[in-house]
Amino acid sequence: MNIILFGPPGAGKGTQADKIVKDFNLYKVSTGDLLREEIKNNTDLGNKIKSTVDKGLLVSDNIINDLILNILSDKKFYNRLIFDGYPRNLEQAKNLHSYIKKYKQKISCVLNLNVDKESIIKRIVGRQTCANCGLIFNEYFKPASRKNHSCDPKFLNKRSDDNEETIMNRFETYLNKTLPILDFYKGQDLLHHINGMGQIDQIFKEICGIIASLET
Ligand SMILES: [Zn+2]
Repeated sequence: MNIILFGPPGAGKGTQADKIVKDFNLYKVSTGDLLREEIKNNTDLGNKIKSTVDKGLLVSDNIINDLILNILSDKKFYNRLIFDGYPRNLEQAKNLHSYIKKYKQKISCVLNLNVDKESIIKRIVGRQTCANCGLIFNEYFKPASRKNHSCDPKFLNKRSDDNEETIMNRFETYLNKTLPILDFYKGQDLLHHINGMGQIDQIFKEICGIIASLET
């Protein structure tokens, strides 16, 4: 079973990916991790990546494709992958499609975590961290009060880059880039929409239901 997980920044995609990995015994594929790993291992590809990153340039699709190929050709990971944050564009999706075919594997499902813009903004903009005890609150969903927090409210901090405009831009960019990929998978009858607005466990339950319904 190979799974692809989509969701906008702030939708809790990482949390769900980790839960799926644990419960279904899969390996998570994140291109960021793969790139860092390659640099750390000092491979030829790693050196190429490092010089690109050092120049402040984006790593090319070709390099990303090579990394994915390494994983898909490794028997250890055969049909046991969850892709998190990949593919990022239609070209990458098409490449993945041909590699999957080549190595006689299959994408079992594509899970799309749906969260509306307002909720994302509230989740991120409302987030407060206590500088004193490290507890995390949210102005909208889980406000700090005397009942759940004993420190002085002056310790509650907001992350400065979490402003509304930045988040809206990230969200729009995500939607624009992801929509064509989702269409691609919809055409293959692999796309499942998940309501990402609920509690973590509720969302995970929904994901488990979809996975259970797949033909194996
Ligand atoms: Zn505190």
